[in-house]
Amino acid sequence: ETFISRVSAAKSLNAFLVETPEHALAAADAADKAKAAGEKLGKMAGVPIGMKDLFCTQGVATTAASGILEGFVPQYESTISSNLFKAGAGMLGKLNMDQFAMGSSNETSAFGNVISPWRRNDGGNTDLAPGGSSGGSAAAVSGRIAPAATGTDTGGSIRQPAAFVGITGFKPTYGRCSRWGTIAFASSLDQAGPMARDTRDCAIMLGAMAGFDAKDSTSLDLPVPDWEAALNSNLAGKKIGIPKEYRVDNMPPEIDALWQQGIEWMKDAGATIVEVSLPHTKYALPAYYIIAPAEASSNLARYDGVRYGLREMPSQEKGERAGLQDMYAATREAGFGPEVKRRIMIGTYVLSAGFYDAYYTQAQKVRTLISQDFDKAWESCDLLLTPTAPSAAFGLGEKSDDPLAMYLNDVFTVPSSLAGLPAMSVPGGLDMQGLPLGLQIIGKALDEQSVFNAGLALE
Ligand code: GLN
Repeated sequence: ETFISRVSAAKSLNAFLVETPEHALAAADAADKAKAAGEKLGKMAGVPIGMKDLFCTQGVATTAASGILEGFVPQYESTISSNLFKAGAGMLGKLNMDQFAMGSSNETSAFGNVISPWRRNDGGNTDLAPGGSSGGSAAAVSGRIAPAATGTDTGGSIRQPAAFVGITGFKPTYGRCSRWGTIAFASSLDQAGPMARDTRDCAIMLGAMAGFDAKDSTSLDLPVPDWEAALNSNLAGKKIGIPKEYRVDNMPPEIDALWQQGIEWMKDAGATIVEVSLPHTKYALPAYYIIAPAEASSNLARYDGVRYGLREMPSQEKGERAGLQDMYAATREAGFGPEVKRRIMIGTYVLSAGFYDAYYTQAQKVRTLISQDFDKAWESCDLLLTPTAPSAAFGLGEKSDDPLAMYLNDVFTVPSSLAGLPAMSVPGGLDMQGLPLGLQIIGKALDEQSVFNAGLALE
């Protein structure tokens, strides 16, 4: 009930698109009854969570914060939400996000931006971006509106917003979390994960979310370890790699200081520090911004005005008759926002017959080189430590007219996405203006445990 009242009290943040208090209450009741009856409780029994609006929820409107899915009510439950409900969690509502998960500030939502609960301590009144694309999830957890929320991460959308609002966010190894029923952005990169107050909560929640699902062809058929039970913040014997290529030009001094502080904390926990090289890092961002839009342009072809949500009929001049193509065009023109259209145009361009080899094939080769960089690094270390983002939260509107500046925010999160590796962001402290900064830990494929353990050590 406290969290339900927090949802209503915090409406000005615009974090929730749909409120489902009855769902959260039903889960709490079920947990109470199970407890009274002496039954074994699920790992998340009665915990009210926020659900990113990218997850299809049966009978509850799901839009991916887009106009084109307005009015769409799924008849099925995504595997992730279903797994969480089976573990006993209840849903407080559906969370705002960047439209189709494309963005780093939550400003591409068709339903308005989310406002971060944080303020700079300069006495000014600037509204800050909560990060994106999981901006509603970030605001809800950091504003103490929900104890935890789901996120999805294609190129950083769990980690960067977690860093911007001082919470913990975890992207598992690609394939750990089923993509079934999650609205697709870039299928070879999309992964669901938890956003919560700390490492332990993330470990519990990921344990409930992950697992093999025959309905997703890229789902990993492996048991889910009990990450929470094995948490251990003693890093004795662990080697932490510091990738020298992440020391980008113009890195703000407070980000560098945060990184140095993280290195000290790792040493305090018993780890040894080694410098490593990931030579193709500078090509990760351009490769990502070819591959992700290419896959998006293909995935978003399904929004044709026939099967889901919005249908727009073209205006007809006297005597003219509109055909099917005109209906498609009018629907997509009205239903997609500018960033989504930009991605579709980039994606169709790089996949077109004349440019496919020059862009798409080239980007795929770069992706392989980036994966090989990590493989090489693992010969001398167990984990990597980097900043999560190149800056603290920026003001709303500050970057929204400059897509390149926005894309540059993903510089530290994108390489591990391209390689499918587990990575998390943990709060690392505050900058001079009192805003949170995040540290990123990247692990070997399937070694979520070491990432969690390092996260615990940094807390
Ligand atoms: N900011 C990145 C993008 O816009 C990542 C988004 C995400 O991870 N969903 O593509």
